[in-house]
Amino acid sequence: MAEFQRIINSITKRANKSTDRGNVAAYIPELACVSNQKFGIHLLDIKKSNFSAGDVDEQFSIQSISKVITLAMAMGLIGEQVWQRVDVEPSGDPFNHLSLLEQENGIPRNPLINAGALVIADILVSQLKNPKDEFLDYIKKLADDETISFNPKVAKSEKITGFRNYAAANLLKSYGNLKNDVEVVLDFYFHQCSLEFNCKQLCNTFYFLINRGECQRGNTFLTISQVKRINSLMLTCGFYDEAGEFAFRVGLPGKSGVGGGIVALLPNEYCVATWSPGLNKKGNSALGMMALEHLTTETGLSIF
Ligand code: GLN
Repeated sequence: MAEFQRIINSITKRANKSTDRGNVAAYIPELACVSNQKFGIHLLDIKKSNFSAGDVDEQFSIQSISKVITLAMAMGLIGEQVWQRVDVEPSGDPFNHLSLLEQENGIPRNPLINAGALVIADILVSQLKNPKDEFLDYIKKLADDETISFNPKVAKSEKITGFRNYAAANLLKSYGNLKNDVEVVLDFYFHQCSLEFNCKQLCNTFYFLINRGECQRGNTFLTISQVKRINSLMLTCGFYDEAGEFAFRVGLPGKSGVGGGIVALLPNEYCVATWSPGLNKKGNSALGMMALEHLTTETGLSIF
């Protein structure tokens, strides 16, 4: 256990010295204001011991990491029916690409690219009476944390510049794979992306995926088989066209967001979250990738 803390401290030292920090996501104006000098890492092990270093108390926009949580909620509500509307194959394309969607008649490659997450958002909008409130309640229960909230400024900022997401939603609609109004689905999607967490809150939320579907309080959210499905999708699709690279360098299921967060996990062992807003060319946190590569190499704990 002390080993985790020692390794995390040395990773943080290395990260703070790094000059290869990438660039913050500028296409969402509100995210462009964050400094790329930040770095934080938190690890929660299966026995609920916590280890952290760096800027771990600061909250950041989780962006695409939210796609895992909406998927979990949708699977809990409609189970295997999800897969009638979205596939489970890696796309090999950036998160916001549209060409495959057209070629494949409006069935997104997987739920972790934008088009797939919009279909999942549509499912939740259909299933829930008050989608945004009920989704927020779901996360609060999962994380056992009442303080988690949306950032309306970030949601609005993305709406103003969300041209590609509008294009994706309209394309899905034209293929009959979006049942609700485009504006309503996008409003839900921009809000889910605007959720703010710190690294520790992210670990608390994802604990159920290392613990066979049970959150820290012991409530069951998903079956063991559903957890297997989500973790396998994170491994093959969690980093878009860099999923192979992440598996190669880190060897864990995980999910990134353009806010600079990454969450990754080793089932039955630990869950880890990093935050550093500078992104590499594929839109994944540059220092986060480096940190997690060191973590699994130095602990010898990856799924491989
Ligand atoms: N909200 C962002 C978008 O739709 C999420 C992308 C990401 O985090 N990769 O562009």
